[in-house]
Amino acid sequence: MNRNPSSLCHRSFDLLVCGGGIYGAWTAYDAALRGLKVALIDQGDWGGATSSASSKLVHGGLRYLEQFEFRLVRKTLAEREMLIKAAPHRVWPLRFGVPVYAHSRVGLLRMKLGLMLYDLLAAGQASSKRHRFFSRHRFAERFPLLNAAALKGGFTYADAQTDDARLVLELVDGAIQAGAVCVNYCQLTRLIEENGQACGAELVDLSTNQSCEIRVRQIVFATGRWQAADQQIKNDCRLTRGIHLILPPLLKDEALLLTAPSDGRVFFVIPWYGLTLLGTTDTAYHDSLDAIDIDRAEIAYLLDAANTYLKKSWSQADIIGAFAGLRVLKSPSAAEAAAAPSSISRDWELRTAGNGAHYSIGGKLTSARQDAAQIVDRVCTTLDIQRPCATQGRLFPWYPHESAMDFPAWSQALQEQAIQSGIDRESAFWLIRRHGGNVTEILRTIAHHPVLAERIVSSLPFITADLLHCAAHEMVVHLDDALRRRIPLLILAKLTATDLRRIAGSISGILHWDTARCAQEVARCQAWLKQ
Ligand SMILES: Cc1cc2nc3c(=O)[nH]c(=O)nc-3n(C[C@H](O)[C@H](O)[C@H](O)COP(=O)(O)OP(=O)(O)OC[C@H]3O[C@@H](n4cnc5c(N)ncnc54)[C@H](O)[C@@H]3O)c2cc1C
Repeated sequence: MNRNPSSLCHRSFDLLVCGGGIYGAWTAYDAALRGLKVALIDQGDWGGATSSASSKLVHGGLRYLEQFEFRLVRKTLAEREMLIKAAPHRVWPLRFGVPVYAHSRVGLLRMKLGLMLYDLLAAGQASSKRHRFFSRHRFAERFPLLNAAALKGGFTYADAQTDDARLVLELVDGAIQAGAVCVNYCQLTRLIEENGQACGAELVDLSTNQSCEIRVRQIVFATGRWQAADQQIKNDCRLTRGIHLILPPLLKDEALLLTAPSDGRVFFVIPWYGLTLLGTTDTAYHDSLDAIDIDRAEIAYLLDAANTYLKKSWSQADIIGAFAGLRVLKSPSAAEAAAAPSSISRDWELRTAGNGAHYSIGGKLTSARQDAAQIVDRVCTTLDIQRPCATQGRLFPWYPHESAMDFPAWSQALQEQAIQSGIDRESAFWLIRRHGGNVTEILRTIAHHPVLAERIVSSLPFITADLLHCAAHEMVVHLDDALRRRIPLLILAKLTATDLRRIAGSISGILHWDTARCAQEVARCQAWLKQ
């Protein structure tokens, strides 16, 4: 994946996709596969906004059943099943435990009915994935970290998990392989119109501040939270903030779905890269679109909610990292407007403005592929092109094609090969999930330089060869691209200035950074950490 801003300038495209989050990435990939001449830009890094700040779940959304959102749940469950098959390295199954206590808002019978419906809506899923009931004693045995007093029993049910930023990145690479021109740190500053119709755009390459114009036949804005400042669309959407905390290891292979006692909202405790992700919140947001802070009250809310369930409480001192993201929700109906933000529909909508520009509003990481297919359908209809969607069921760009469809066997063999080349077992496991088929390239590098099999920081399963691969092949522009999204070290470890300088130094040769640039990049990461 090379960054080449000059390949955009003064050219014409069938479609410009503005915004390289999950919606922009799927849209560009789908359109390029259908043979359109596509440009995809993002003013920051790929997946740099909400699409790297999610709960990292590929799920139907059990809680949406309470709002009778059956259509949304069926749609997202179908996508979940498809993604697990098409991208086993990128989207993997994760079971959730749901304890039911004497004081729980949802009792055993109602939870059972909800889970039966969830299984039913996931038509075609393997029977091994159906929900299971556990007696009080058995559930306490399975989740020994939970308080067992007043526990009545519990369930487990199947969903799935991903690395959201890498999901976006892989799709951007897929779009490039299919012929799209994709440039990060490239901002759309002005829409060019003729006779009231959008026909081009002024773009600025933020790495050099050079601007240029391009001609386009169609434009899609997948600009996420920045739609709240877009004259064409701002009255149609509202924002809510969700934060996550990273805490020490707690669960190994299963997650927990819990309910906050203070307001009855659902939240998750999820294992991720060996640590614990605790989230999320859902509060109305009206502040800056560019820098989202994390409210102390939200941190307290999450810790309090989790601590009511845990035998060993967490305190502020246990927090390793945190991040915040903004949801874009379609403007609520009158009834929804009066209710809590978490009760507003998460479903997605496509609007076409009077000037012909299309807007993707709201949605989910999980269902973005299906929604993007609708965007590209509308673009094709407008251009009078008849080509069907090619992303449904298509193996992912980094799917290891040499695995001959037996991914588990391929993955097992590669893991053993990685261990033999000096990588520790946990890092080898994650390396395969992070890179899919590209892992063979990393193993070749290690064969020549065995020292690169060492971890970047001792507590986390990321090795130096991975970092160098990202710097060389994954369109890294800034240090935080490498350390927040290619590898999420900035949120999973408390990196010191010395760590940051060492890491910047290790990739400076690849990225042609001199000492002054390294210092700037370290300062940029430190500023992000202080947000
Ligand atoms: C806290 C939280 C948890 C969530 N958890 C889940 C989950 O577990 N599972 C799930 O399925 N969904 C989840 N979601 C929903 C999901 O994350 C979002 O629906 C999705 O990431 C939105 O993607 P997007 O592409 O629309 O927007 P974004 O990812 O925000 O991308 C928009 C992009 O547009 C770019 N942009 C804006 N203006 C310009 C411009 N002028 N020029 C160039 N580029 C521009 C931005 O830089 C940005 O990268 C969660 C959401 C939140 C907030």
